Amino acid sequence: MYFSKQSKITKEENQKDFDEGKTLYGLPREVIYCKKCVISNQRPNSAIEYKHLKSTKKRTINFNEGICDACHVAEKKHKEINWKDREEALMSLCDKFRSKDGSHDCIVPGSGGKDSFYASYILKYKFKMNPLTITWAPLLPTEWGRANMISWTDAGMDNLLYRPNRRVQRLLTRISIENLLHPFQSFMFGQKMLAPKLASKLGIGLIFYGENQAEYGNDAKELKTHLMADHFYSADGIDKKNIFIGGLSVNTLQKDFNLCDNDLSLYLPINKKLISSGISVAFLSHFVKWHPQSNYYFAKEKSDFVTAPERLQGTYTKYISTDDKMEYFNFYTLGIKFGIGWTSNIASHEIRDGDLSRTEGINLVKKYDHEYPSRYIQDFLDFVSLDKKKYEKKILDNFEFPKIDKEYFDNLADTHRSPHIWKINDINEWELRHSIFENEEQEISNELKNWKGNK
Ligand SMILES: [Zn+2]
Repeated sequence: MYFSKQSKITKEENQKDFDEGKTLYGLPREVIYCKKCVISNQRPNSAIEYKHLKSTKKRTINFNEGICDACHVAEKKHKEINWKDREEALMSLCDKFRSKDGSHDCIVPGSGGKDSFYASYILKYKFKMNPLTITWAPLLPTEWGRANMISWTDAGMDNLLYRPNRRVQRLLTRISIENLLHPFQSFMFGQKMLAPKLASKLGIGLIFYGENQAEYGNDAKELKTHLMADHFYSADGIDKKNIFIGGLSVNTLQKDFNLCDNDLSLYLPINKKLISSGISVAFLSHFVKWHPQSNYYFAKEKSDFVTAPERLQGTYTKYISTDDKMEYFNFYTLGIKFGIGWTSNIASHEIRDGDLSRTEGINLVKKYDHEYPSRYIQDFLDFVSLDKKKYEKKILDNFEFPKIDKEYFDNLADTHRSPHIWKINDINEWELRHSIFENEEQEISNELKNWKGNK
């Protein structure tokens, strides 16, 4: 059996692990918050998902003189880059690929949220491209996300909705939760790999993602080019021993979980040999100044774009990543593993863009960052609970409890809390050892205290 129920961690166990200097995921033991935004040095860089194991040590965001790389990058974006030149470069790139007969000449992956709406819209109407938008279906779609997908096509886009085999996707999601506390991994495989796969099949040479992940603090070298590093979606051959999904090798998944080549093919990187003909996977944010809040207003102005009817649990907005209920669990579990949740991520971006002050950001983090995603907890548990109707005994035997409840999930989640980030307090609740709101006492220059972003 691979997966069994975890027992509740006690205050004594947590304290003992802390005293022994234990940290999970190779995270830096000292927690430091950026002096400009609200991100800490625990933030992991984007991982190559098919190499992600339980034992993988995370590379984390770089800090320089107390300021995170994402803030350094944002400053450059606002002050140094000549956006007019970049836009001309985009036009030249489009000129190379634009079709003469009206057939699709670029792919824009997305859900019809504000960012993919904006990307496809300007490519079509300003740069005169013929985009095919593609959607890797959300795991737990919301009503308003569905409505926005329809509005996307109403605004003039062709859309291909790709729904993967849900039986396999649920099983892989359950495994990635058990092993990595990573409920969004199966989605991320599709998000990164479906577009290059379809592009190579359809003979379309150009793919546009929106924002470069490096703007959130990956290796700044990735920002020198408009292209996504190809290791995120491709590999030199498919070695089943060394490609991992949910932290288990493809060999193990085939042998012990009865999955066949076809079941897993959508989750495997594309073989580099197959894309040697040249597919460019580009970030539009390299060419146009990316501002998520403006993209929202743009989508509202140009279409019937709707927000979620309520504030999203874990953060303070209604219009970011609203199409999938699984996002709540994605950010909740990131908060557990790294101490920084959904609010920290959004507020940091908005602080860098000058939409929010750091003090406002800190207050929002205090209020919402680790809020429990109670609204959709039952949908989530149902999705990752496995039953006899759909899964054979050989698969179910790998799980002590194929069906799980909230207690099972909470205990499992707690085993992913690194003792250098979390402690159990006197009223027996989890509490951050170093929060940004306590950190305010640290010495910050007046210039930074009054900093109003890059506007
Ligand atoms: Zn920062």
